[in-house]
Amino acid sequence: MPEVHYETQDGIAVITVENPPVNALGQAVRAGLAEAFDRFAADGAAQVAVLMGAGRLFLGGADITEFGKAPLAPSLPDVIAGIEASPKPVLAAIHGAALGGGLEVALGCHWRIAAPGTRLGLPEVSLGILPGAGGTQRTPRLIGLEAAGRMIASGKPIRAEEAVESGLIDRLAGGDLRAAALAFAAELKGEAPRRTRDLPAPQGDLSDLRAATAAKTPGQIAPVTALDAVMASTRLPFDDGIAEERRLFRHLLDTPQRAGLIHAFFTDRAVAKVPGLDAAPRAIDHVGVVGGGTMGAGIATACLLAGLRVTLVERNAEGLDRARATIDGNLDTAVQRGKLTADKRAGLAPAFATEMDALAEADIAIEAVFEAMDVKREVFATLDRVCKPGAVLATNTSYLDVNEIAVATDRPADVVGLHFFSPAHVMKLLEVVVTDATAPDVTATGFALAKRLGKIAVRAGVCDGFIGNRILSAYRAAADRMVLDGASPYAIDAAIRDFGFPMGPYQVSDLAGLDIGFMTRERLKAEGAPQGRRATFADALYHAGRLGRKTGKGYYNYTADKRGAEDPEVERIVAESRTGPARALDADEITRRYMAAMVNEAARVVAEGIAARPLDVDAVLLHGYGFPRWKGGPMHWADAQGLDTILADIERFAAEEPDFWQPAPLLRDLAREGGAFADLNRKDTA
Ligand code: NAD
Repeated sequence: MPEVHYETQDGIAVITVENPPVNALGQAVRAGLAEAFDRFAADGAAQVAVLMGAGRLFLGGADITEFGKAPLAPSLPDVIAGIEASPKPVLAAIHGAALGGGLEVALGCHWRIAAPGTRLGLPEVSLGILPGAGGTQRTPRLIGLEAAGRMIASGKPIRAEEAVESGLIDRLAGGDLRAAALAFAAELKGEAPRRTRDLPAPQGDLSDLRAATAAKTPGQIAPVTALDAVMASTRLPFDDGIAEERRLFRHLLDTPQRAGLIHAFFTDRAVAKVPGLDAAPRAIDHVGVVGGGTMGAGIATACLLAGLRVTLVERNAEGLDRARATIDGNLDTAVQRGKLTADKRAGLAPAFATEMDALAEADIAIEAVFEAMDVKREVFATLDRVCKPGAVLATNTSYLDVNEIAVATDRPADVVGLHFFSPAHVMKLLEVVVTDATAPDVTATGFALAKRLGKIAVRAGVCDGFIGNRILSAYRAAADRMVLDGASPYAIDAAIRDFGFPMGPYQVSDLAGLDIGFMTRERLKAEGAPQGRRATFADALYHAGRLGRKTGKGYYNYTADKRGAEDPEVERIVAESRTGPARALDADEITRRYMAAMVNEAARVVAEGIAARPLDVDAVLLHGYGFPRWKGGPMHWADAQGLDTILADIERFAAEEPDFWQPAPLLRDLAREGGAFADLNRKDTA
């Protein structure tokens, strides 16, 4: 049960919120706070109050279990107004973090002291809303318009050291926070409360920041609306500003973007709860990485950053030198970006080896060698021979059959796919690919490792491309068909960026290299897989040596403009590769086809159990493929459109191209029953 404790010591009331794990501001805490401050007002023995949090941090934000429900009294703005109105001084003593509502409570206190390293911020925009408990009105009064605007529009927290400079907090606590707070409180005895609401209204203008924010978060409503609320502080008296904040807050609460971001928030947590998996993970301390190319070096970096011991095996000394240089570069960048101190960096390096015997003591070996079945099988046969019993043997393959890799060993139960995304030390997604034989505790180990690396793991079944790359193949094929039919790759990229992806599919091809797509088409051809209409224009670009960014030219020309310029030569090559007359496809039609292909294949992936639930697909597309978070992922987005709308589109496309556009049975059934993908999420996670 959440509790708000009240005790007095030397004329100081110490009010402590205890609501593990994060002191969220649920109804019981809000009521407890209101009661504690009433008691303080009436307590003749207390001249000053100190507000603190028990446990890891000061106060959390809203209680997520109250999301989407009718608000329960007392409201947070009322509780904060009550604290601020206290006739006697109130000091917030902050440690760990004060984010969102937690910081808004602190802003309602009259003074603030914080432990070094405390993170303070107003991240509400990341959930599609704005600080709705006075944050947009009090913050600019305290630290100025521009600084408040930056903090609120970015949602990024700052550290106490920085906050003390801006005036967000008054003092840094040296040593014990409680002792420092009591000493500060003793100085405040007899002082008149310094209420943030009574500070002079901030002055200035945020139009530059608003324009920059709109450019940085295209299509998103919350960041710019939050700035509008902050701007209100310059022209409205405090209470009217609060009313305006409330009005804008309520408006955001009802937007589809808010619904998408909340879905994404819950999805990030739900993916870790794999239906039916309750095994304990195996212990991981020492990670072996086989292959030190793009992926192996990135995986090694991620493990080092997480404090794991790493041994990296390459074929020869040159391979090791290359891997060492990549890892050094990654770690140096981490230091430059402030993610790692120079001190810690100095001690970080893998052990390097050219013999697999070096992995004898590794708890897990992660293979990232060339994407060829015979090479993988040979590596796994060797791992089987050298690794200790109980070691997890993982492959980073993108497409190959992990069942087939597993049977190259005599311990297929220990084999799992761990599909990282490039760059592996940056990208959040990890697909944990479970074979027919993978032991539950091996799957659990994949999830535990992901958590250790700060990644989001999603369980995937075995098929060509698992969850993400399989769905990618489908919507890429839809894009290629549109190009063959008449759309310019540039028009497709623009439409997909407008939808909210950071890049269009042809920009992504340029980044990955056109050789990758070419090799895949050749492999599928060799395997005799049904290929449909081949992207002959992509073959032509490949044969022209236009491999993308690495050769200076691909779909775009990077020689003059680093960001890539459209190139008439490409338009010519594309036009020549068309067999029929080009037809016009506008942005709406492009987006409908692209998204329908994505959702349709995703429905198959769910129906086949490759993804356990629709939300697993959403997490994969959000964290590995740039799907706009405020649209919640393709399955959430499809539900929001109405599955009947998507089905109608697919049936329309199918009338023209029945070989490619067949409605997935799951999508068709749900659409006909008036159901939604979300219904399937609830089934297993309750
Ligand atoms: P890469 O060519 O950059 O690196 C492969 C490395 O493996 C090379 O340095 C090579 O010397 C080394 N190697 C080959 N055989 C070896 C052996 N027997 N022992 C030790 N080292 C050996 O390839 P990459 O892009 O890092 O891809 C590696 C794997 O990761 C592939 O299976 C690929 O499909 C997968 N993958 C790649 C990406 C990506 O974006 N590049 C993303 C996810 C998964």
